[in-house]
This record gives sequence, structure tokens and C-alpha cells, in this order.
Amino acid sequence: MQTVLFHSTIFGPLKSRRLGNSLGINLMPNDGKLCSFDCLYCEAGYNAQGVGTSGVATRNAVKQQLKRRLEELSAAGEKLDSITFSGNGEPTLHPDFKDIVGDVVRLRNRYFPQAKVTVLSNATMAAKPNVRKALKMVDNNVLKFDSAVAATMLALNRPVSPNVIPEGLLMDLDAYRGKCIIQTMFVRGTHEGRIIDNTTDAEVDALINAYLRLEPTLIQVYTIDRPTPETSLERVPADELQRIARRIEAEGLTVQVNA
Ligand code: SF4
Repeated sequence: MQTVLFHSTIFGPLKSRRLGNSLGINLMPNDGKLCSFDCLYCEAGYNAQGVGTSGVATRNAVKQQLKRRLEELSAAGEKLDSITFSGNGEPTLHPDFKDIVGDVVRLRNRYFPQAKVTVLSNATMAAKPNVRKALKMVDNNVLKFDSAVAATMLALNRPVSPNVIPEGLLMDLDAYRGKCIIQTMFVRGTHEGRIIDNTTDAEVDALINAYLRLEPTLIQVYTIDRPTPETSLERVPADELQRIARRIEAEGLTVQVNA
């Protein structure tokens, strides 16, 4: 069974297709996964593996470990493009997320002022006042939105709460209109006998309507490039991603393709 990728709170820097040289912050357990989604393509594996025993890092531990790593990287003359919240689950679930973001912004300003602070979030907590304050502090507020069709989103992202549906997420995301990056993973495959495909014309049309409503500064479209828990999922070919991107751009939106 595929399990978590990250075994520390601070990891990398890693070369990222979208973010350049990126130092990662994993606010979730180091030996398990904690997420409000359970995506079929999650690189950290399914939630069924459990949350482990380490618990989530404390605010102070994140601050001290990040400070130490930034000092090392600065002394080594390394270049950093981004300090990125990602890891073994959804970072905004951390109870001290807002204060941790504040600490990270201050440390970034001190050691690598040119680096961006990036949060990769599935948007399920985006309506919480403290999460909203935190996401407004960062440079790259990257929110996942894979399908505007409820049946597809429920099958692909598998929200833990039965109340999460695309329309509800879009209402929560109204507060970020014009101030977010939307990230959409395109995949095809099957799961438990059901076809999963968010690349159809109807899916792309529905996504475009959602993007137009959110007015993101950028839409990142990408596909899988690592093993996925649902092994039937296939990469969407680069030329097809480009075709989808052209359709979105035709509506006046800005798209980045990470094939
Ligand atoms: S939202 Fe991210 S961390 Fe959570 S299950 Fe999906 S891919 Fe994994």
C-alpha cells in the first residue's frame, strides 16, 4: 500500500514543476496522513493508512526547525524560490495554522526575502476566519478545484465530510475572488467499477464556469507524475492538457500547464 512521502516537518528543498526550488513544510503527522479529502491520486496514499502516532508539529517546533534549515541553506548560498506548505495532508487543518503562517512569513522575510510563501490547500477549510486571514498573508494561495460536477468531485476527491460539494466550495471561495491560484488535476481511470474522467467537454465547460466565477490570477493544470493509490489512473497526455488549456485561455483566463 502506498503510504506517506514525508517523514519530517521540514523537507527539501525539492525541485517542483510549478514552484521551482521549494522548501516544504509538512504540518501533518510525520508517520501518517490527515486530510479532509481522500483523493484517488494522493501521493501521500489513502487516509485508511491512519494518522500515525507522531501527532502534528507544534507551532514552536515548526518555527525552530524552519529557522535552523533556513540558516543552513543561507550559509550554503542556496537559492530558494518558495517555502511551501504541503505534505501528508491538508495544512489548514492545523489548529495553529494562522500563527504558523505568520511565523513563516517573518522567517522568509529575514532569510530569503525573494522567496514566495505558498500554501497548497484543498479549500475545504477556506471559509474559516483564521484560515482566511492566513491565506491572505501568503504570496501563493493555491486552491485545489478538480471538478465542478458533484458526482465527479465526490468520486475523485472523496471528501471526508458528506457536506462538501463543489457549489459549497465555490461559495466558500468567493472570499478569494481575484486573489487565488486554482490548481486542477486532470486524470482518467476507474475506481470500484466507476469511470473517473474530468477531461470531458462537459467537465471542462463546468470548470470554466467555476474559474470565471473565481477570477483566479492563474489556473495551473497538471496531471499525475508519481504512483497513485488508485493504480488505474492514467496521465493525461501533454497535447490534451494543452488543448484543455487553450479552451480555458479562450475565456480570457491565464493558464499554466505542468505536463
Ligand atoms: S487534498 Fe491533497 S493531501 Fe488531501 S487527499 Fe487530496 S491530494 Fe492528498
